[in-house]
Order: sequence, then structure tokens, then C-alpha cells
Amino acid sequence: MNKLRVTIIGGGFAGLSAAKVLSSRRDLVEITLIDQNENMQFRPLLPDIVSKNVKINDILYSYSKLKEKYGFTFYHEPVRALNFNQNQINVSEQNLDYDYLIIAAGSQSAPLPVENLKHSTLKFNTAYDANIIRDLVFQGKYERIIICGGGYTGVELASNIQKAILKSNSKTETIVVEMTNSLVGTLPVWMQRYIKKNLEKMGIIVQLSSKIETINSKTVILSTGQKYENALCIWTTGLVSASITSNLNIEKGPKGRIMVDSALMFRENCFAAGDISCLKNLKYNPRLSVQAAVDQGRICGKNILQSITGSSLFKYSPRDPCFIIPTADGNSCGEVLGFPVKGKIASLLHYIISTYRSYGFANKINILTGAKVIC
Ligand SMILES: Cc1cc2nc3c(=O)[nH]c(=O)nc-3n(C[C@H](O)[C@H](O)[C@H](O)COP(=O)(O)OP(=O)(O)OC[C@H]3O[C@@H](n4cnc5c(N)ncnc54)[C@H](O)[C@@H]3O)c2cc1C
Repeated sequence: MNKLRVTIIGGGFAGLSAAKVLSSRRDLVEITLIDQNENMQFRPLLPDIVSKNVKINDILYSYSKLKEKYGFTFYHEPVRALNFNQNQINVSEQNLDYDYLIIAAGSQSAPLPVENLKHSTLKFNTAYDANIIRDLVFQGKYERIIICGGGYTGVELASNIQKAILKSNSKTETIVVEMTNSLVGTLPVWMQRYIKKNLEKMGIIVQLSSKIETINSKTVILSTGQKYENALCIWTTGLVSASITSNLNIEKGPKGRIMVDSALMFRENCFAAGDISCLKNLKYNPRLSVQAAVDQGRICGKNILQSITGSSLFKYSPRDPCFIIPTADGNSCGEVLGFPVKGKIASLLHYIISTYRSYGFANKINILTGAKVIC
């Protein structure tokens, strides 16, 4: 029997866990993985790059090493065009044929509400964004760093920026601007209060019920009339699906995500996993997390093998045993198996999970060493 060609677009948590499952049946499948980056990026530790708690290399792992491990052919390219009718992907100016497809291209920062803000704000979604922010913070050129958006990413980033400022003895102020009346509004109230109290204890200014109205050069004006001069603005107001979905003629859900059935399929022989997928039959989709991406990637891989062998497909059912909101003061908080955890123990858990989930022995050791500083 000829091997069937499985192509995975996106080598994050979802894409790699699919590749891992598929690699156990290399007698049946030939795997191709396409990613626009050369390295897998461990995104949960992006904020730690800003405070230099971990180095950028500690969260990157090269696909050339992973390709040996999982036996895939790797293309370092962004995928821009897909032809579902002909089962083809256009990469490196050639058409690649596939028998099965997994789209696992993740998410990207939501577009800015006003187009011209693009030139006066930074986003925070990749290791390269984190590197730029770290350098600007340590150079101490700005009097204020304003984080627009008090969700998970905003609060984690703010705490790491403040830690960097304290480390470098600079006088820069860190300000979080949030349009609703609480930080991390989707979390239980005790966590909202705990996080706000700890950020303020670190010296961070929290501006609730306010929006950024305009930015003129380095002057930021809020809806409350408050004006901040010589400020750097970083936008963290949510995520949308990776841009690959914008040209695809398929059913899409909120934020451009690909609507999938319970087997994570969106059309014959095509699957989607991780941040980019949205389950049709669930009232609440799982939060965007490493756990969901890994579980979904695994199900996609297994379902392709099931389909090849003519067996029935597995259904994905979400589980979220643990989540932690890590802050750089070491006073993180979250829930484990439904029980609240906070303080150093929560921070330690975050780094233990990150170590377990990360790729490469040296990276794991360096992440644990970073944990020592926080915990
Ligand atoms: C700052 C931050 C902190 C976070 N903290 C946590 C946390 O503490 N715990 C937790 O569980 N989750 C956390 N998350 C969320 C978690 O990182 C994501 O849910 C997870 O990475 C999703 O995995 P994925 O495989 O779907 O996508 P990703 O990991 O984003 O991987 C997608 C891959 O697709 C590639 N790609 C995209 N478009 C294309 C294209 N057109 N062509 C080729 N390749 C493409 C990208 O380069 C990337 O490698 C955090 C996220 C951020 C941004």
C-alpha cells in the first residue's frame, strides 16, 4: 500500500502533537510540516523574555531537530494559498499534493481598532515582539509604558515589564489601561482582585473603565482625559485566527476560526486543531490553551490513522485540569482540578508545567532555573 501524504500547516503545540501521533505509523503516512518560522516558539513564556527571566533561545526549538525526531519533511514558508478541490498547497512556488490536511496555524493579535495606531504601538504575540519590547524597556527611553488590555496577556506582560524596570532601577512607569471595570474579567472575582492588588503592590498603575482615545507620536490620551507624554504603547486586546483563514472559503466562527465537528474535521480529509479551530457543537469552546491545542492535535493525528484503517473517528472532548495566570512578582494564581491556588506554589506549578511542555533538554533546564528566581 502506498503511504498517504499528511500535511500539517503550523508547527505549534497542536501541529507537533499531531506529528508525534502520526510518526508512530510511518509505515502508513508520509508527514510534511510547514511553518513560517524556523523554530517552534513556546508562547506561554513570552512575557518572561521581557524581564530576562528566560532567554529567547530557551523558548525556541528548531524544526530541523524535530524533523529528525518525528520523521517529517519540513518547509520553512508561510502558506498563503490552498486549493481544497485539488488537494494542493502552494509552497515554495510549487504545488504540494496531500491526502490529509491539518490546519494548526494558531492565532495572531487582533487588528488595531484604528488603522493609524499601527505605527505608534507594538503588539505582543511572538518571541520577536518580546525581544523588541525587552530592549526598549531596558534602554529606559520612555517615561511610561502603557499596556492596552487587561486580559491574561496584558497582566502577565505588565508584571514582567515592571520587574524589568525595577531590575534596571529606571523611573519608567507601567500603566495598564482596561476598558471594563476589572482586570481579567473572565476569571473568578477573587482572581481579578488578587491580580489587581499584586500588580499595584509592584507599583503598576491600573486604569479601569478607560480606553485609549488617541496617540499622537508619543503622547497617549485616554477616554477619561488623562494624558501621558513620552509613552510607549503595547496593544494586548485579544487574539484572532491566523491570517491563513481569511482567504479560505469554509465555514468560520468567531474571530475567523475554522468551524469543526466533534472529530475536528471541517471537510473531507481536512482537520483543524488548536487556537485556529472552533467546535460547532459546543456551547462553550475551551479557552485558548496549550492543553486544548495538544489534545486537539493528538485527536487529529489519531483520526487520520483511524480513517486510513477504516475505523471510526474519535470525538474531542475538552478538559482543562489546570490553569495559572503567572505574574512576575511570584504571586501567580489559578485553579488546579477546580481548587484555587495562589502565591509561590502557583508560580512554581506554572514553571513545572512549562518545563514539561517545552521542547529540548537544555530549554527545560533553563526554564526551571528561571523558575528559581521567581519562586
Ligand atoms: C503571551 C501568551 C501567554 C500565554 N500563556 C499561556 C499559558 O500560560 N498557558 C496556556 O495554556 N496557554 C497560554 N497561551 C496560549 C497558548 O500559547 C496557545 O493557546 C497555544 O500556543 C496554541 O497552540 P497552537 O498550536 O494552536 O498555535 P501556535 O502555538 O501559535 O502555533 C501556530 C504555528 O503556526 C504557524 N503559522 C501561522 N500561520 C502560518 C502560515 N500561514 N503558514 C505556515 N505557518 C503558519 C506559526 O508560525 C506557529 O508556529 C499564551 C499565549 C500567549 C500569546
